[in-house]
Amino acid sequence: MKDTRYDMIILGAGLCGLTLAYLLRQSGYRLVILEARRRLGGRICTQYNPNQPPIEMGATWFGQKHKTLVKLLDELGLDYFEQYMGSHAFYDAVSSGPHQVELIPIPTDTEPSYRIKGGSHRLIEQLALHLPSRQIVLDQEVKTIIKSDTHFELRTSDKTYTAHRVVSTIPPALLVSAIDFKPRLDEQIVDIAGHTHTWMGESIKIALSYEEAFWRRTSYSGTIISRGPITEMYDHSDEEHQRHALVGFLDDRYVRARRAQRLMVILDQLRKYFGPQVENFIRYDEYLWRDELYTYTSYSGPMMPHQHNGHPIFNRSGWPEFYIAGSETAKTYPGYMEGAVVRAYEVFRAINKAAK
Ligand SMILES: Cc1cc2nc3c(=O)[nH]c(=O)nc-3n(C[C@H](O)[C@H](O)[C@H](O)COP(=O)(O)OP(=O)(O)OC[C@H]3O[C@@H](n4cnc5c(N)ncnc54)[C@H](O)[C@@H]3O)c2cc1C
Repeated sequence: MKDTRYDMIILGAGLCGLTLAYLLRQSGYRLVILEARRRLGGRICTQYNPNQPPIEMGATWFGQKHKTLVKLLDELGLDYFEQYMGSHAFYDAVSSGPHQVELIPIPTDTEPSYRIKGGSHRLIEQLALHLPSRQIVLDQEVKTIIKSDTHFELRTSDKTYTAHRVVSTIPPALLVSAIDFKPRLDEQIVDIAGHTHTWMGESIKIALSYEEAFWRRTSYSGTIISRGPITEMYDHSDEEHQRHALVGFLDDRYVRARRAQRLMVILDQLRKYFGPQVENFIRYDEYLWRDELYTYTSYSGPMMPHQHNGHPIFNRSGWPEFYIAGSETAKTYPGYMEGAVVRAYEVFRAINKAAK
């Protein structure tokens, strides 16, 4: 096995890991990011296809209240645009009784949502562009972490890496279930992390692209709030209103259905709102996050959304040079893109403080 030595290893090339590496870019540390997937971005996952707007299969929206993220976008020269909401939404969310679809006016949003121009992946790309390419190694799932008195040893299926400092940005529940720690991590941390909800880990994201945004021809907006099978849907046209799509979430009970069955129930529901034109889509895309080995892990008991997100225990891993990061560990807006960036800043400050 090849032995590779570093000052610092970051686990995960999602938004948190890449932002941290970006903040540390002038620190002089010999640093590497080990990423299990063959792509960057983690839960930021934009798909680019001809004649389609950039399709967000992961993180999409943010607001001005997400100050750290907005500051980072500005610093990287990335522009963003307001989510089109239109004037009326289909509402069918009452949980009992027969389905009753109402067309309800959408109140003027005092806190609009935004999307990154060109897709959320632009943020990942820009961060990566500031790092030497040798600093990111894809297809390296860390399976074992061994701590000795002087350093950490990280093992993947084909390599062993060593470092004096390790920062994990893997969702906490996955960190403690998928990685074998020698010696074991503190029991309390294992317990809290194992019961920390990974935001959106169960979700099914769906997208239908069309040549025309027919939903904009009327006072409809493409916005749907329903008890299912599609639970939420929004206009997903690009910033120039040139390429069009509807993007939303499917009830996660459909995770074990076949793709064709999911598409059938989606079209059945959309037909009720917009008529037969819904069948003229250019392309159907879906992403089942529950099947993503490097995001989702099943939990041992019932789980509330955002459970234990931002728990103070994540500030002390029990090992001085081992940091537990990732969006779910942030003090503010854990689970969201803002949380991922906030946490990168928090760990950056902690590392600098420890170095003094
Ligand atoms: C469907 C969906 C919709 C979302 N919508 C929004 C939204 O609209 N707005 C918003 O703000 N947020 C949204 N989010 C949440 C947002 O995506 C996350 O908060 C953010 O991307 C988390 O970044 P992260 O770097 O902390 O974690 P991740 O993106 O999960 O990155 C962790 C990285 O670690 C890697 N990894 C895992 N295991 C290992 C291992 N053993 N070894 C090495 N690497 C490993 C993973 O592959 C991944 O790249 C959404 C998420 C999903 C899934």
